[in-house]
Amino acid sequence: MNNHNNEENNEEINRKRKNFHTHFENRCENLLEEEEDDELLKLSLMTPFRSTRPRIQPRENIESLSPPLILENHESSTLNLPQLAILTPTILKKETGQRKRRNSLKPKPGNAKEVIIETITPPFPWATNLIATVHTLQYLLSKQLFMISGDVQCKRCERRYTMEFDLKEKFVEIGSYVMKNKTLLKERAPSIWMTPLLPTCQFCKQENSVKPIICADKNKINWLFLLLGQMLGCCTLDELKFFCEHTDNHRTGAKDRVLFLAYLTLCRQVDPSGPFYR
Ligand SMILES: [Zn+2]
Repeated sequence: MNNHNNEENNEEINRKRKNFHTHFENRCENLLEEEEDDELLKLSLMTPFRSTRPRIQPRENIESLSPPLILENHESSTLNLPQLAILTPTILKKETGQRKRRNSLKPKPGNAKEVIIETITPPFPWATNLIATVHTLQYLLSKQLFMISGDVQCKRCERRYTMEFDLKEKFVEIGSYVMKNKTLLKERAPSIWMTPLLPTCQFCKQENSVKPIICADKNKINWLFLLLGQMLGCCTLDELKFFCEHTDNHRTGAKDRVLFLAYLTLCRQVDPSGPFYR
């Protein structure tokens, strides 16, 4: 593994991207079993977390505005998330610490120490006790959470049922798209996010017909399911603003801007070391 990484580091920038999927798959598969990677993990611990933020300049790989809803072959993608999933539990704690700044109650001047963190009972095994916040990919895979489920309803036959998405497969798909198009999108959601292509109904087989059932209690919205299904656009502007308010995105504005931020922020939650910073 170390050799592999060293090799990768020595390659030219434009070659790095091609290795993403191999790297990604290796990282994911090794997560559950790797014990010999202690040295690598120590190395990643010594790297300041925030310092990794601007390392990706995805300019050269902007190819298309059309999201690759289906990537037939992961190896053909050019996404590179070089440090994906090498976070350790220590870094996860750090991440939690950073979130302490996110408060519904802002500290009063002169009373800055009284920071109240609003927590909730996690509504799903993949959600944390912070509002609108999900666990990292590394955490979820380590807990054997490979599939993410959610409630849906067919617009045609109106059947309600639960469907699920493969976490790793879907995240690679979305992460690749964000990586390739982040600059080009100029912080606005593309039309495919604004008007999502919905799944086919498993009962009546109607295409583009199954919409997610979004919980009226915003604390219980299944954000990771919506991300993986690329169905965040089914949320109302109000729901998306709620998400942004609770995730340090104090932007208000048109739906395409708030929706873009929701995608980027959720990708960042899932892979904090990925190229998902503004
Ligand atoms: Zn149906």
